[in-house]
Amino acid sequence: MNDYRNEQLTTLNAVLAHLADIPEAERRRLQDLATDYLDFRRRTADFLQSHFGGICRRECYESRRSACCSKDGIITFFADVVVNALLSDAREMEALIQVLKAPHTDFKCVYLGRQGCLWRLKPIVCEMFLCDSAKAEAFSRSPGAKEKWRRLRNEKKGFTWPDRPVLFDALERYFIDRGCDSPLMYLHQSPGLLRIKQQAAAKGNIDHER
Ligand code: SF4
Repeated sequence: MNDYRNEQLTTLNAVLAHLADIPEAERRRLQDLATDYLDFRRRTADFLQSHFGGICRRECYESRRSACCSKDGIITFFADVVVNALLSDAREMEALIQVLKAPHTDFKCVYLGRQGCLWRLKPIVCEMFLCDSAKAEAFSRSPGAKEKWRRLRNEKKGFTWPDRPVLFDALERYFIDRGCDSPLMYLHQSPGLLRIKQQAAAKGNIDHER
């Protein structure tokens, strides 16, 4: 098993172990924390389906090119794993565990199954990736779509970019405070993101940098 899959599996198991251990009310509290984010993801998915569904199906799915799912090493944030685990059933979680454990010789993403991505709610990096040719085609057909996409990308920062209090940081902190550690906790480990938090703390945009 390579480092990437090992990190993914370790994180998945840690999150599942914690979620299995907490009362239902606590689990609901975590789900409630993600309400606005899930609404954002629903609107983003609707946008992508209406403006890119046909293009991506033709260019990548039917041709089996899957250009945007072709890496074993796509970035997943710790919060991606948590939110997906909160939404998924045991069978879906087991499917992720099994593909991570299986020998992987394909050049495509380890999570790419026959029917598409195995995550119930795919990682945010994947959701927000659009290749240049798809954007050129969709935006030339519908010029208003470009501005909508810009707004969605901006909105995404409100959940992931720690120059203010954001869900992705809060979920990491929640698990850190309960003794969980993961290499996917980028908002608490990446030097670049820690610098953003320090600057935000200096401006008073977040309470303090942790
Ligand atoms: S996690 Fe899912 S959406 Fe992202 S690259 Fe892998 S298969 Fe594609």
